[in-house]
Amino acid sequence: MCLNILPDQVVVRTAHRWRDSPVSSAQSPAKVLQSSKGCLAVSTTESSLNATRHLGDRAKKIIAREIGLYSERTPGSRRANDRARRVLPLGVPSSFQAYDPYPVVVKRADAAYMWDIDDNEYIDYDMGFGALFSGHINPIVRRAVDEQLAQGTLFVSPCELNADVAELLGERYGLPMWRFTNSGTEATMDAIRVARGATGRDKIVKVEGGYHGHHDEVMISMKPKLEDAGPADNPTPVPSTAGVTKAVLSDTIVVPYNDPEALERALGKDDVACFIVEPVMENIGICLPDPGYLQAVREITRRHGTLLIFDEVKTGITAGWAGAAGALGVTPDLVALAKSIGGGLPLGAFGGKSEYMDQITRGRVVHLGTYNGNPLCMAAAKAVLSQVCTPQATAATIGRNKMLVDACNDIIDDAGLPAHTIQFGAKGCVTWAPEPIRNYRDYKATDFDLAFAQWIHGINRGILLPPGLDEQWLISIMHTERDALRYADVFADFVAELTE
Ligand code: PLP
Repeated sequence: MCLNILPDQVVVRTAHRWRDSPVSSAQSPAKVLQSSKGCLAVSTTESSLNATRHLGDRAKKIIAREIGLYSERTPGSRRANDRARRVLPLGVPSSFQAYDPYPVVVKRADAAYMWDIDDNEYIDYDMGFGALFSGHINPIVRRAVDEQLAQGTLFVSPCELNADVAELLGERYGLPMWRFTNSGTEATMDAIRVARGATGRDKIVKVEGGYHGHHDEVMISMKPKLEDAGPADNPTPVPSTAGVTKAVLSDTIVVPYNDPEALERALGKDDVACFIVEPVMENIGICLPDPGYLQAVREITRRHGTLLIFDEVKTGITAGWAGAAGALGVTPDLVALAKSIGGGLPLGAFGGKSEYMDQITRGRVVHLGTYNGNPLCMAAAKAVLSQVCTPQATAATIGRNKMLVDACNDIIDDAGLPAHTIQFGAKGCVTWAPEPIRNYRDYKATDFDLAFAQWIHGINRGILLPPGLDEQWLISIMHTERDALRYADVFADFVAELTE
């Protein structure tokens, strides 16, 4: 997710046709990439500089033309944005929905498709930041919600669906006790409170570049400016919003992802309640754990009496039937879920081992909420977990995603571009860096300008994604093979133009 990423000056800083100009081992693509960001003084060959300039010039031209085309295609969205800005900050209900030049305003969606108010049709690869793994208005989810609608929308008394859904989540995650919330933000907030209650400790550790919702204690070092962020192996906690108190800031320690030694140091005083981490980081494209990283995290947290919280709000059941925890074989103490489990309705959940969730049973930790376990959301979740996202349907969807990832990879290889693809479950991305990123600092060295050129070229051809490098695409249960592969067709056109 990204705000206002349209560069003031469109300057492509990094692009290199590695195939055309071999790079010695002492001058790896990654080093050249860093150097072109002004960090290292590594000399590049004349042909690589020419290739860099060529891609940069092409990207500039593509962006200039495509911004004009975007304005021509979306006059209604522009008018709607102008109107909305008068009554809503940035003209949107969540700042994540704002982007330059202005966001498309949506009329309706169905299956894998979305239509804006100018009647442009898009294949939706954003799918509600991955929340719509079941697809827009999945007919099975719709029937379940319709049936529940006839029975009532809110009881503030328990209904049987609560235990149905908790049992279904328990089967997938191997964790016995669950509570429901209305969002991922609440799920991570409540899981952290349980961890603090269970350990009697105040401090928490989070990863630099990690997003865990918009409550104070995790709105820290989401996407810090590098000049504020301190050393890479011992990042300075940086508030991501005004309004975070110094007291909150002093209780949150920030570590780099994929760095077990940094975690070991952070937990060294045995005074940390929890380490909250996305098992696979999915707000900086897709950043995979190094082999053994999550196992090391599990061992280190256990040794220091610190609870391990997996934030699976984004990975969730898009990662596989048993979530990222199941796919990667590491069981946390607590897990926070939302997005994909709700089938498009606002639902979050947190669950965990009985010894920790018993904090709530015993009344030590209080968990409340008028809409918790809302019957419409419960009906949707039950349909998602039991009928829609079955093991077979999940595996087939991940297979369709692999076809798309492979197709994009072939395009990148054939053109010799400084980019690569990453797949995790039903999600994928093209990252404009020659090597996979391992943490936030690597992500900051990727090429945002090329990513913007690709995004605006795609949206003008019916490929809907949030702009930039933060998000990844999601192939849903309802994307056909043809829907999935359309992205690769448009990407091939973009690459052809970029490299011609
Ligand atoms: N955790 C992660 C990893 C997320 O990506 C998000 C939202 O994007 C959240 C938590 C917060 O979820 P919500 O937007 O439902 O509050």
